[in-house]
Amino acid sequence: MTFQEIKNLDEQYVMHSYSRFPVALDRGKGATLWDAEGREYIDFTSGIGVASLGHADEGWLEAVAGQAGKLAHISNLFYTEPYAKAAAALCRRTGMANVMFGNSGAEANEAMIKLARKWSFDKYGKGRGTVITLNNSFHGRTITTLAATGQEKFHNYFFPFTEGFRYADANDIGSVEAVAGHDVCAVMVELVQGEGGVLPLDQEFVSRVAELCAKRDWLLLVDEVQTGVGRTGSLFAFQQYNIQPDAASFAKGIAGGLPFGGVMAGGKCRDVFSPGTHGTTFGGNPIAAAAACHVLDRLDGAFLAQVEEKGAYLRAQVEEMDLPCLGQTRGLGLMIGIEVKGGRTNQELAAKLIEKGLLVLTAGPGLRFLPPLTITQEEMDKGLAILREALG
Ligand SMILES: *Cc1c(COP(=O)(O)O)cnc(C)c1O
Repeated sequence: MTFQEIKNLDEQYVMHSYSRFPVALDRGKGATLWDAEGREYIDFTSGIGVASLGHADEGWLEAVAGQAGKLAHISNLFYTEPYAKAAAALCRRTGMANVMFGNSGAEANEAMIKLARKWSFDKYGKGRGTVITLNNSFHGRTITTLAATGQEKFHNYFFPFTEGFRYADANDIGSVEAVAGHDVCAVMVELVQGEGGVLPLDQEFVSRVAELCAKRDWLLLVDEVQTGVGRTGSLFAFQQYNIQPDAASFAKGIAGGLPFGGVMAGGKCRDVFSPGTHGTTFGGNPIAAAAACHVLDRLDGAFLAQVEEKGAYLRAQVEEMDLPCLGQTRGLGLMIGIEVKGGRTNQELAAKLIEKGLLVLTAGPGLRFLPPLTITQEEMDKGLAILREALG
């Protein structure tokens, strides 16, 4: 099909919940993509941080195809090797106790919120189910995770939202203390606010939040849906903030492109979910779990060190270009935010870059790069050359 045919069909039969860029992507290899007409693009998005090993990675393909040819699905009523192995790999590398798998970020956060509320209910009884989240956060699109999201623009249309969330300002421990109360069971944060604009939390604030949680017997919940699985240069971001959360959610990059996610619990919360208290039909699907095992195998120390180096390189190159419409860069590893200035909008710049062959994302008022963690030097330089030419 041509681009126009695909577009016409999509516009007629797909709900208009996204305004798409005028490109129909067809295939990819590494961090390079081709559209329906055969035009080449450099991928600084990995989808939205999902294709962590790039597109059509050979090892990943082997893991996925091998499992698909053996057993694609059999429900959570039976044991499967990929599920158990993926859970073990996550726990052994994070110091967490156990894992429950689901299919997406919002679902992982729902599970984490349920875990926190039931932990508190089991210990203290009713009336202690409030979760403190941060302003400018993003936790998902279900009714509950929209309520958890600390941005007014998401608290619309879908009333009534789930109750039991209060919002504090990032990097202001006084603001967290100000919304404390006897009804609170947990604090939930993204260590680098992703959708909000790639805003890393201060180490000092994170340490103080951890102390406050320990003091008040609140759980510390970390939403690693975007920051997890090597994106920030450590396997999980909490490992470079030197905290051990009571639970952490993950999704996006975990299975290298397949829908997969979940929540890891620390020792304190390992027995909160008993049979019948939480479940999902698709969660822990063997194909996605086999893909996750492969992704985790690949992300060893040397691989993660490269993520840091590549991130530092991209940021230094963008800053050195000193383009009139781009300001400072920020972020961790290959999670990069770039300020937009000079009266331009991020949407306008993203559209221009995509037209010229570089796929980028927006976040808050800025641009965002989440390239495949496997992006090569040549692909980075091609992408940077497009950036310079399109915006120079
Ligand atoms: C993307 C994202 C989510 C939602 O994940 P979905 O898979 O879209 O449901 C939640 N939290 C954070 C931090 C995210 O970046």
